[in-house]
Amino acid sequence: MLKFLTCLTTQHDLRLVLVAGAVCLAGCFTTFRLYSRMRGARGVVRSAWLLLTGLVAGSSVWATHFIAMVAFTPGLKTGYSPTGTLLSLMIAALFMAGGFAVASAQRTTTNDLAGGVLIGLGVASMHYTGMSAFVTQGQLVWEHATVGLSTLLGVAGATAALILAGSARTIRRQAIGGGLLCLGIVSLHFTGMSAITIVPDMAVSVPEQLLSGGILTLAVGSITSMIILGGLGAVAIESQTSRSALERIRRLANAAYEGLVVVQSGRINDANAAFCELAGASLSDLVGRPLFGEILTFDEASPNREDVRREGFLQPVAGGREIPVEVFSRLMDDGARVETSGLTVLAVRDLRERRAAEEKIRYLAEHDGLTGLLNRNSLQMRLAAAIDRVEASGESLAVICIDLDHFKEANDQHGHLAGDALLVETARRLQSTVQAPSFAARLGGDEFIVVQVAGGDQPAAAAELAGRLIETLGAPVAHEGQELALGSSLGVSLYPDDGRTVEALMANADMALYRAKESGRGAYRFFKREMDDTIRERRNLARDLRQGIADNELLVHYQPLARAADGDVCGFEALVRWKHPTRGMIPPLEFIPVAEENGLIGALGDWVLRQACADAAAWEKPLRIAVNLSPLQLHNPALPSLVHEVLITTGLSPSRLELEITESALFKDYQRALDNLRRLKALGVRIAMDDFGTGFSSLSTLQSFPFDKIKIDKSFVENIHRHDRATVIVRAVLGLGRSLEIPVVAEGVETEEQILFLRGEDCAELQGYAIGRPTPVDGLTEWTTATRSVATDPPRKAKRSA
Ligand code: C2E
Ligand code: MG
Ligand code: MG
Repeated sequence: MLKFLTCLTTQHDLRLVLVAGAVCLAGCFTTFRLYSRMRGARGVVRSAWLLLTGLVAGSSVWATHFIAMVAFTPGLKTGYSPTGTLLSLMIAALFMAGGFAVASAQRTTTNDLAGGVLIGLGVASMHYTGMSAFVTQGQLVWEHATVGLSTLLGVAGATAALILAGSARTIRRQAIGGGLLCLGIVSLHFTGMSAITIVPDMAVSVPEQLLSGGILTLAVGSITSMIILGGLGAVAIESQTSRSALERIRRLANAAYEGLVVVQSGRINDANAAFCELAGASLSDLVGRPLFGEILTFDEASPNREDVRREGFLQPVAGGREIPVEVFSRLMDDGARVETSGLTVLAVRDLRERRAAEEKIRYLAEHDGLTGLLNRNSLQMRLAAAIDRVEASGESLAVICIDLDHFKEANDQHGHLAGDALLVETARRLQSTVQAPSFAARLGGDEFIVVQVAGGDQPAAAAELAGRLIETLGAPVAHEGQELALGSSLGVSLYPDDGRTVEALMANADMALYRAKESGRGAYRFFKREMDDTIRERRNLARDLRQGIADNELLVHYQPLARAADGDVCGFEALVRWKHPTRGMIPPLEFIPVAEENGLIGALGDWVLRQACADAAAWEKPLRIAVNLSPLQLHNPALPSLVHEVLITTGLSPSRLELEITESALFKDYQRALDNLRRLKALGVRIAMDDFGTGFSSLSTLQSFPFDKIKIDKSFVENIHRHDRATVIVRAVLGLGRSLEIPVVAEGVETEEQILFLRGEDCAELQGYAIGRPTPVDGLTEWTTATRSVATDPPRKAKRSA
């Protein structure tokens, strides 16, 4: 130690020693900066960094050595052989690069140790190769133990530097690494120097062409400084580049709509603005927190593979409702940087909007748009589920089919808005009457279903609910200042007695409903096995009729009316016929009620009126044409304008058109019917009272409206001379007509006897098979073009087949 100090203080120029130390320190610090970059890189970039590290480290060691050598003043002439000097530089660079390569090959202490040993040996080799290039006027005598010690010191310094600061990321720790390495190098050098004793020998000559100390210092100092500065510059440029790249990536990530979060070992490493917003916390709050299980939970545990898409929930840090999310995860690896390996980046997509849209679509698919009740589809599913439920629980189940009485009329009379309001109100009342697990649904139109799931005994529970429903639905509905009153008819089927499937229960409840409507509406009926074929038959008929109207299966036949006095045909009654494709001719008495019940009468009546007027308008003689109106047509406020329009379109004179109505039709809504009749009459159309005698036959009916004709029902005419009562009634009606000055027509006149009687009683017109049967339009030409008389050649010749 003493020798070391003596050597340093007495044989060296201390100013140059300081320069050597400074170069060494700067070089070693730069080496550690570069080494840290190298450890973070891969592939070619890594090799480039290694080369630069080796170069900077090698040249620093080398420069330190030679500047310190120049500082060495043994008091004799000295010089340096260029070959040895250059060789020592190459050795230094090679050993340094090798040492750092070994140290960084794997992140273990063994590697640091091996790398340190290699670097230490490199410094020693450089030193002693450099010493071999040293020439002075004397003999160098070596102290081998000190040489060994110097090598040991070099190895110790390098090893300590690598172990303590090999993985340093901060400048402070890199400075410590650089300092330790520098210490190793300097102590190796000066210990090595103290191992020599120079025995002056004037016989040894120092050649002139050797490098002198001054040139060496200048050359070594400037080249090394440039290399060191170059290294530092490279580090600075690289840091700046990666910082701005990072900044760009961060800006890009923050602009992303999706949340992005980087995770390392399950903890949050980084996140973008969207993720922070989703998680309801700042980035600094999030970094370091465990992500999985705490903030993010997945629906089911799926393996954490690359590119996996999973769904789950995000729990905001500040509390609040869980957010449904979709997560895509991918291992992050940019190929050149070691720091990014082992990181997983997750893209987190907020599914709230999508879920809300899905929910809305599901709702629309399952519910009726107008009333918000379940629709037909979901009813079937829910009913099936309810059947399963009661099967398991032992509760009872009833299906109640509801139809609003007179809904179609209300809709026609008050308009669709009123109709909609009625349906919405009905739905509201159903929902407030029916409690879960029972439920209500709308099948369409004015048909509703209630499925009752109850604990009570059947049929008592269903009867109680049905009674309550009739009462609730019977209360008037206020709409735009009016009170609309509707009733309802209900049909009930019970599980399992009336059916075990959705279809059977619904069909049987529907059948019971049909019975309820038939029995006068405003009532409920339970399904009975006997409610069978007739109802099914009518259902089929309604379906066929709807199709038949569309397929033009309807025809109009015309039956002549003759003046009783002279037998001249003075008009025809239009009678609708239906030629069913498989069943043949179906009589109107069978299908007209079906048309009325199923809302088809409007279209049917419209068509007959149009057809009859068009046919009549084409006749040569201006004979009258009578068209029958059903009660529903009579109550439709649009009837007068329809008739008006048909008259204009067909060109038929209003006075030739006669509309036949029955007395009972008037009574459904007396005032409205009378209003319509007055408006029709104002058009110039004639109105006849059909089937007189079968209804109330009230005198007041005849007085309340100026009918143009009364038609005595054929049931009386056919009994003339057979039953006294019938004869009396016919006489009375004829008398009534006379006193009110309304002409009377007798229907169903079949015999000559009847003709004679009616003519004798002053009956105005006759209609019946004796005059002529209902006939297709092309069979009427002899009447519409020529005059016929019942008097000259009564009934037989006039007969036509129906
Ligand atoms: P209605 O208006 O009283 O028509 C007279 C019915 O008596 C017709 O029956 C006719 O064929 C039948 N008839 C005529 N002469 C005789 C006879 O001498 N003896 C017998 N036994 N019957 C006779 P149809 O065609 O079956 O019509 C039955 C009812 O159907 C009609 O009674 C009418 O109320 C209704 N109807 C017919 N066509 C239409 C229509 O276009 N619209 C409406 N709303 N109802 C119609
Ligand atoms: Mg008639
Ligand atoms: Mg009649």
